[in-house]
Amino acid sequence: MNGAWTGSSETFDLVNPASGDVIGHVPRASKEHVDAAVEVARKAFDAPIWRDMEQTKRGKILLQIAALMREHFEEISKLETLNQGKPIRESKGDVAWAIRAFEYWGGAADKIQGETIPVTANRVTYTLREPLGVTAHIIPWNYPLALAVRSLAPALAAGNTVVAKPAELTPLTLLRVAEFAQKSGLPDGVFNVVTGSGAVAGRALVSNSHVDGITFTGSTDTGAHIMEDAAKNVTPVLLELGGKNPNIVFPDADLKRAVQMAKYAIFTNAGQMCWAGSRLFLHEEIYEKFLEELKKQTESLRIGPGLEEKTELGPMVSKEQQERVMGYIRSGTEEGAKLIIGGQPPDDLALRNGFFLKPTIFTDVKPTMKIAREEIFGPVLTVFRFSTVEDVIRMANETQFGLYAGVWTNDLKLAHRVVREIQAGVVAVNDYLVAYPQTPFGGYKDSGIGYESGLQAVNHYTRIKSVTMNTS
Ligand code: NAD
Repeated sequence: MNGAWTGSSETFDLVNPASGDVIGHVPRASKEHVDAAVEVARKAFDAPIWRDMEQTKRGKILLQIAALMREHFEEISKLETLNQGKPIRESKGDVAWAIRAFEYWGGAADKIQGETIPVTANRVTYTLREPLGVTAHIIPWNYPLALAVRSLAPALAAGNTVVAKPAELTPLTLLRVAEFAQKSGLPDGVFNVVTGSGAVAGRALVSNSHVDGITFTGSTDTGAHIMEDAAKNVTPVLLELGGKNPNIVFPDADLKRAVQMAKYAIFTNAGQMCWAGSRLFLHEEIYEKFLEELKKQTESLRIGPGLEEKTELGPMVSKEQQERVMGYIRSGTEEGAKLIIGGQPPDDLALRNGFFLKPTIFTDVKPTMKIAREEIFGPVLTVFRFSTVEDVIRMANETQFGLYAGVWTNDLKLAHRVVREIQAGVVAVNDYLVAYPQTPFGGYKDSGIGYESGLQAVNHYTRIKSVTMNTS
């Protein structure tokens, strides 16, 4: 914080999920540390070098951060895999996404503007788009860098000063990028990162009355707690929460691609994704054939440490997460769902110290079962059979969540109908897991409030001042 490293007498261990080995320690921030970081950010905002910097220049600094990240692309990608566990190919995709997000917002910085509004002949009315002030960013562990940058880049482009708290399990890549930010010419105090627990550091950050805006990405329960804490200071919140997403396949679709993508939609990042295609709906005409092919392809997924290039399915992020997911698998079996593949850690002795789990598929799942209702956040797919479009839309919408949905069909009318009727903030037609820095992303229902990404995201990091000038 404030352009320097600050330690703490207390630290916590970071673990390589592929081996269980401790790979380092980071400070465990106390409430006092967090308050100090917010104070530093407040002073930097009030200074006001960053806020008043020419917008084009602000954008160039963000572009410079992206350039440094590009130079260190391999290193950051490896660090992400070492700390989070995901296959290196996926980390490279995430880091490339984060670079593009900085570039997108670097270019957008001087396009953040107000408007003029015609009222009467002798009055000029216009709006100014002003930064909020100090923004707080609470980050989850599943995409540690990409999701941090998703909210930090627009906040910075708009002229805010920021305090970010990465998840306790996965702070390393964001800390590295903080170094690049400093080297890129960001004034001290503009970009601050605090490492610590959600209960202490996270709570201290969202409860601080000098914070002017909160962006939280994480579970729905935590999001609700944060909203309560934020309410005490009337601080606006942007919440990106959980999902239990339907992936719907109609018989006329390109089934070869749909099978590959159904696998990819749930087993990428070991299923630890808000937008995982965790509920697969197959039309009865193709059900058996599709499932057989999916099972075959899933069985051949290469499980291993993420740093090995050939790995397709890495470990879960922690022992705790692995046990949590095993609990869901037990509950699925107990409630009568049919486990057709997976359900336990791999037999390979070389993997026994890591937090691995075989890719798992359940059929005969009833909508009332826990595995059909709750976000499992692991490599566990639940499969449903449907016969009519009305049925599948009803079943797909029968959830508290509404983040993402996949629809597979070549029938344009049908695709449009499902797109209109599905309760999800983001829909992919004949695709899955697609999101760009320029496309809005957010959820319906308990999946969140507000949308990240796309130019509209800047609305969350700015406020409008409406000015009327009498010229008579
Ligand atoms: P989590 O809710 O446990 O933690 C997220 C972050 O919140 C961590 O940094 C944690 O330290 C912090 N935190 C915890 N309690 C807090 C509190 N009381 N006050 C302030 N901060 C607190 O989530 P997770 O397990 O890290 O991530 C998984 C969840 O994130 C899943 O539910 C997933 O669906 C969701 N997610 C959503 C999106 C999206 O864009 N909608 C993206 C990724 C992940």
